[in-house]
Amino acid sequence: MAGPIPLSQFMGAANAHYYGTRDPLGARGDFTTAPEISQMFGELIGLWLADLWDRAGRPAARYVELGPGRGTLAVDALRAMAKAGLTPPVDLIETSPTLRAAQAERVPDAEWHLGFTGISEDGPLLVVANEFFDALPIRQLVATNEGWRERLVACQDTLFLPIAGDRSFDMIIPPDLRDAPPGSILETSPASVAMLRGLARRLLGQGGAALIIDYGYQGPAIGDTLQAVRGHQYANPFEEPGEADLTAHVDFATLREAAEAEGLVVYGPVTQGVFLTALGIDARAEALAKASPERAEDIALDRERLTGDEAMGDLFKVLAITAPDWPVPAGFA
Ligand code: SAH
Repeated sequence: MAGPIPLSQFMGAANAHYYGTRDPLGARGDFTTAPEISQMFGELIGLWLADLWDRAGRPAARYVELGPGRGTLAVDALRAMAKAGLTPPVDLIETSPTLRAAQAERVPDAEWHLGFTGISEDGPLLVVANEFFDALPIRQLVATNEGWRERLVACQDTLFLPIAGDRSFDMIIPPDLRDAPPGSILETSPASVAMLRGLARRLLGQGGAALIIDYGYQGPAIGDTLQAVRGHQYANPFEEPGEADLTAHVDFATLREAAEAEGLVVYGPVTQGVFLTALGIDARAEALAKASPERAEDIALDRERLTGDEAMGDLFKVLAITAPDWPVPAGFA
C-alpha cells in the first residue's frame, strides 16, 4: 500500500503512460480530434497564422505546436501557410515517444522538445495548441464538513479511490465559493498555468502569437470535469489508470489572466463554430466539394461536426494570445 497521492500526480502519471504507449487517435483508437475530422481545420489555422504573420511584417518566425498528436494539424497548417509564402522551421513539444514517431513521418524536418526550453529564442513564435491543455494534470479541491481539502487518490493493489486529504485549503478558495455544499469540487491546473506562463514569456521576449483550442469554461466555478475516455466511451477515471485518456475542462479565464499578467494581449475565447465560420470554413468546404463531388456529402458532414452547436462548435473555445505590438488577429471581431 502506497500513501495517497494528489490527484494531479495521479493524472500526470496515468497520462504519461497512456500517451507514451499508444496512438490514441482515430476511429480505432479512443477519441477523435478536429484535425483528424477534416483537413479544413488545420488549413484555416494555417491561414490564420499566415495572415497575422503577413500583417506583422513577415518576420522570420517559427511554427511551434504543443501536443501535436499524429501531426495532422501541423501538416495541414504548414501546407496552407506555404501557399501564403510562410515556410517556418517547426518545433514540436511532445512527451510521447510513440506520437513523436508518428509526427516524424508527417513532419520529418521538425525538432522535438519537452517544453519551451531548447526552442530558439530568435524570431517570433507562431504557436498552436489543440486539445493540449485538457490533457495536463488538474488539482481538485473538495468541500467537506470540515472545510476544503485537496482530493487525493489512495491506492491498494489495483484499486484506486479518490479521498479527501487532511490539510485545510480554505484560504485559497474564492470567497463566493467558500460556502459550497459538501462534495463540491473546485479545479485548478497549476501545470496549465506554468505552461502558459512559459509560452507568454516567449511571446513577450521574441514576439508572435498563440492559438489555444479546447473545451472549457470560464472559472473559477464549482464542478468535477475530470473524465476518462476509452474506445470512444466514457470510463471510470480511477479504473485501470494509464489505459484511458484522462482530461479535464480548461479554465479559459485563468489562462487569460495568466497571459495578461505577463503583459500579453488576449482575444476571446470565442466558440470554435464562430471562429471557423469567421475564417471562411463554408467557402473552403464548397471549394473542396467542387474539387471532389463524390465526397461532397462527407465534407458537409465534417463541416457540421466542426462548427455545429450540437457537435464541437459550441463546446470548444478558441483563445488567441499575441505579443503587445502584434496586429489584431482575424476571427475575434
Ligand atoms: N493536438 C492533437 C493531439 C491531442 S491529444 C490533435 O488535436 O489531434 C494530446 C497531445 O498532447 C498528445 O500528443 C499527447 O502526447 C500530448 N501531451 C500530453 N501531455 C503532454 C505534456 N505534458 N507535454 C507535452 N505533450 C503532452
